[in-house]
Amino acid sequence: MAEMFYDADADLSIIQNRKVAVLGYGSQGHAHALSLRDSGVDVRVGLHEGSSSRAKAEEQGLRVTTPAEAVQEANVIMVLVPDPIQAKVYAESVAPHLQEGDALFFGHGLNIRYGFIQPPAGVDVCMVAPKGPGHLVRRQYEEGRGVPCIAAVEQDATGKAFALTLAYAKGIGGTRAGVIKTTFTEETETDLFGEQTVLCGGTSALVKAGFETLVEAGYQPEIAYFECLHELKLIVDLMYEGGLEKMRWSISETAEWGDYVSGPRIVNDATKAEMKKVLAEIQDGTFANSWMKEYNAGLPNYNEYKKSDEDHLLTTTGKQLRQLMSWVDDES
Ligand code: NAD
Ligand code: MG
Ligand code: MG
Ligand code: MG
Ligand code: MG
Ligand code: MG
Repeated sequence: MAEMFYDADADLSIIQNRKVAVLGYGSQGHAHALSLRDSGVDVRVGLHEGSSSRAKAEEQGLRVTTPAEAVQEANVIMVLVPDPIQAKVYAESVAPHLQEGDALFFGHGLNIRYGFIQPPAGVDVCMVAPKGPGHLVRRQYEEGRGVPCIAAVEQDATGKAFALTLAYAKGIGGTRAGVIKTTFTEETETDLFGEQTVLCGGTSALVKAGFETLVEAGYQPEIAYFECLHELKLIVDLMYEGGLEKMRWSISETAEWGDYVSGPRIVNDATKAEMKKVLAEIQDGTFANSWMKEYNAGLPNYNEYKKSDEDHLLTTTGKQLRQLMSWVDDES
């Protein structure tokens, strides 16, 4: 059984008695910095000169310094710049200013798990990873709720790293919803696996294949779009509320029967065998190393994939249809 922690298990004063630097002010960075500040924590945001996020953070009442200054001032450093540049930011702006007893925090374990960042022995290495996008983390906090988090300690130099981690999670509202204890390895490998095979990769490929199958058979693209993409939200909302069983309770018996007999023909033993290969490449570092190589080469293949999906009939059909549905928010 997973170990869960709630508000009563976390002592906010531990993080209130520290000085926190949040490096980066994107999806997660803004949510952490603003919510920690509202929780009475001493926060500064570290952003490079010329960063377009600087003005935004200042407008929202936060003090902005360079990443190096933020690390000098602080004794808890949360690294929320994009994963592929964390090692560079760490080498240039963090490592030279780290002191014994400091705590280095991450929102995702990739750079520690694959050794792109190797912190010195005297610092705590911790993770608080919200299981939701940053904008929701902030909104839920403001509404008195929270997004569940997973938390881990990779290196406990002070002997108090997990209590500090829970205090941090409480400062962003995580312990209101529940915090599950994990390890950097488990968080990194499951996160990469989930986004590649189910949440993002698997779902995108499934939607595209279904759409193409209908259009190639002569059906109208608009009908195919509604059937294979638009309705997915309604189905997933039901799963979110009550699992597969609530979804199956709500759909027709005909749809439920089709689910049982056809679903396993689509996602079958071959699919699962491929999932195992994807997982093995995540575990042995193949994926992380090839992603870093792609990033450092200037994203040539990434840009090509992006472009080819931008030109896909699914994309152009969806743009037109969503314009006609004013209540579908295309912005966020
Ligand atoms: P993001 O791309 O939204 O924001 C990155 C921020 O870093 C921006 O403010 C950018 O200006 C800043 N930045 C870029 N280069 C910088 C530099 N050299 N120095 C200082 N700042 C710099 O990133 P994100 O999606 O919030 O991801 C941050 C971390 O959180 C990652 O480790 C990610 O895996 C993790 N995470 C993200 C989400 C999410 O909701 N997006 C969810 C869970 C975990
Ligand atoms: Mg310092
Ligand atoms: Mg994830
Ligand atoms: Mg991820
Ligand atoms: Mg239907
Ligand atoms: Mg039913």
